[in-house]
Amino acid sequence: MTILGVEEISCACCGKPFEISFLYSTNNLGQEGTDFHGRALGFQPLYTEAQTCPSCGFSGSGDELKNTKLDEYLKAFIDAEIRPLLKDLKEEMIPPWISFEYAARIALWRGIPINEIGHLYHMAAWCCDDCEEKEQEKRYREKAIEPFEKALQKNEIAKNEIGRHSYLIGENYRRIGDREKAVLWYDRAIEAAGQYPGQERLVALSIQQKTDPQEFMPRCKLNHAYPVMIPRLKIWQRQKRPLWRTILLLCAVPGVLCLAYLVWSPGKFSPEGRYDLRTNGIWLQHGWLGDDSWFQRNRKNKSLFRNDRKIQSLADLLGSHGVKYVFPHVCPASPNGEIAPVDPVQTERFLDHFGEFAVIPWVGGVLGVHCSPESPQWRTNFVSSVVDLLQSHPRLAGVQVNIEPMSSGNPDFLILLDELRQAMPAGKILSVAAYPPPTRWHPFPEGHWEESYFKQVAQRADQLAPMMYDTAIMLPKFYQHLMSGWTSEVLNWAGNTQVLLGIPVYDDAGVGYHFPHVENLQNALAGIHAGLSKYKTLPKNYAGIAIYCEWEMDLQEWNYLKEEFAGTQ
Ligand SMILES: [Zn+2]
Repeated sequence: MTILGVEEISCACCGKPFEISFLYSTNNLGQEGTDFHGRALGFQPLYTEAQTCPSCGFSGSGDELKNTKLDEYLKAFIDAEIRPLLKDLKEEMIPPWISFEYAARIALWRGIPINEIGHLYHMAAWCCDDCEEKEQEKRYREKAIEPFEKALQKNEIAKNEIGRHSYLIGENYRRIGDREKAVLWYDRAIEAAGQYPGQERLVALSIQQKTDPQEFMPRCKLNHAYPVMIPRLKIWQRQKRPLWRTILLLCAVPGVLCLAYLVWSPGKFSPEGRYDLRTNGIWLQHGWLGDDSWFQRNRKNKSLFRNDRKIQSLADLLGSHGVKYVFPHVCPASPNGEIAPVDPVQTERFLDHFGEFAVIPWVGGVLGVHCSPESPQWRTNFVSSVVDLLQSHPRLAGVQVNIEPMSSGNPDFLILLDELRQAMPAGKILSVAAYPPPTRWHPFPEGHWEESYFKQVAQRADQLAPMMYDTAIMLPKFYQHLMSGWTSEVLNWAGNTQVLLGIPVYDDAGVGYHFPHVENLQNALAGIHAGLSKYKTLPKNYAGIAIYCEWEMDLQEWNYLKEEFAGTQ
């Protein structure tokens, strides 16, 4: 999914502040044009690659706008040649192709390699193509062809790039209606690419464009990789409105949406402590049980963990906040299936202090890297190492399995759970770090379990801790609303299996799927409270929340938890 952020910067040219957009994340799921015009689903990342200072007209990438060192000559050039152009713009917002055009003019003046100037104009043409600005598109393609041809004449193109370069010139000629020149350049592309092994596809593409030209690249690869995304693709492609028009439209929908958002209260605050059953869970760091090699690899100080006083103070802290289930990290498994080693002496020491808790090591890892549940041998090793651990330390209450990502419907994961259940000593808890239900706010199949799959996992587990975060939602109330809905869904779907609702307290800003101002303790609790308040009596399988994670909790958050969840001041 393409996620945009906005940043206020000071223009490197005139020093005035203005806002630029930047990408948190994007995708390449849109259809690629035969002129190598890559497209994303939704907002086009292309439009962030050149932006313009509205005061002086300086244009370039976000990085250039912030960090370029401009000398007085360049500033004078921009002042004399670019700034006046701003006045002639009919649009209130600067369209993306204009930013590329200005960037190209500035690049030309600065003596940037001629080929790159061609690319800037080519990208301007792509923007026009997206926005159906046909005349402008033609103009920019003509402007791209000239430097592209010059770069070849001046031998500025690497030999193995000549085929691709010639093809692009041909493609631009074809798209402005000059068939004759297009054919000439396709022939040059076929000849140049033909001399390089590995460029067979380019040869085939050139022949196709010469004889039976297509506007888009074939889409078969996409069909295999993302079957679920295809129906959406069509909807998005019809939406060819450029960013600046979208923004204008948003401004024109006067405040109604903002107002609706402001008065909307999907979350609930519940300071009476009604939902704190004192049987909550929390994920803990590796150091609490980890072996020496982990401390060496990660250069961690053993004395912070292997220390009776430290362990007891952790137990006191967690106990005072109503935590019963603790999940110390014992990941990742080795690729042959064995779970990560623990330090036996430390594990016993930890259990001495955690006698009142259920200590459930958290095992698993990354699917396809550490975890191969499709392999019987891997499963055998995984299961037997779990059994070893539980037999060596009988006071451990069970294990929690967490394999990421794990898509809905994966049959191997169910087999793994069955085999674990069979082999684990009687009375031990089989806990699963589960995935939340699908949501339209985060339309990706991985990371969400459909109802039927969720139920199949629930039937095989004693405890589920659904990881109700990493939703990429950017507005707090939408997340509260989602948490409220998820709370009832997972409790209803889990049947008799105990549920701890997993909540985020970690920062990880800038990853694109987690915004700490949205996914945090406050919003998660507000949503969970709203979800639980729909029940007259609490569902029997509800046990509490599971905090991800202990090492990200600070004093303020512990206090908030006490006031807003435990209801004890
Ligand atoms: Zn400026």
